[in-house]
Amino acid sequence: MPTIKLEVISPDAIVYQADIKMLIVNSPVGELGVMPRHLPMIAELLPCAMRVKFEDHEELVAVAGGFMEVKPDKITVLASAAETPIMIDELRAERAYERAKERIALFKSAPLKHEEIDVPRAEYALQRALARLKTVHSTRS
Ligand code: ATP
Repeated sequence: MPTIKLEVISPDAIVYQADIKMLIVNSPVGELGVMPRHLPMIAELLPCAMRVKFEDHEELVAVAGGFMEVKPDKITVLASAAETPIMIDELRAERAYERAKERIALFKSAPLKHEEIDVPRAEYALQRALARLKTVHSTRS
C-alpha cells in the first residue's frame, strides 16, 4: 500500500516525521483527509489532534493551528505549535482548559460587566487545550 511523507514543523523544530497512510486534520471548511497522491493544495489548520494513520495503528499529534501544504508524495504541516503525546505537559493543558472555560463562562454570565474578555481568543485557547488533552490521553489504554 502506498504511503506519503508527513513532516510537522513548529517554529522551533521538526516535531514529527513519518511515512503514513493518511492524515486527518481540522480546517475552517471541516475535516480534511489526505492520502498518498493527493492533488497539491494548501489549507489552513484549526487547533486539533491530528490523526496520523498507519497500516495497523493511529497516532495523534496536537497542532495549535497553522497551515498544511500537500504535494502528491509529501504533507508539510507548518504549525504555530505542535506536540506529540510525550511532549505534552498534561497539567498545563488542564489549567489552560479551565482558564479558558472560566473566561467564557464569566462573559456569558454578565457580558456587559466583562466586556474586556476576548471570547474568540478564549475559545481558541480552549480548542488548543482540548487538542492537547485528547492527544496526551490517546496513549493511555
Ligand atoms: P498556555 O496558556 O499553557 O501557554 P497556549 O495554548 O497559550 O497554552 P501556545 O501559544 O499554543 O500555548 O504554545 C506556546 C508554546 O508552549 C509552544 O511552544 C507549545 O508547544 C508550548 N505548549 C503549550 N502548552 C503546552 C503543554 N500543555 N505541554 C507542552 N507544551 C506546551
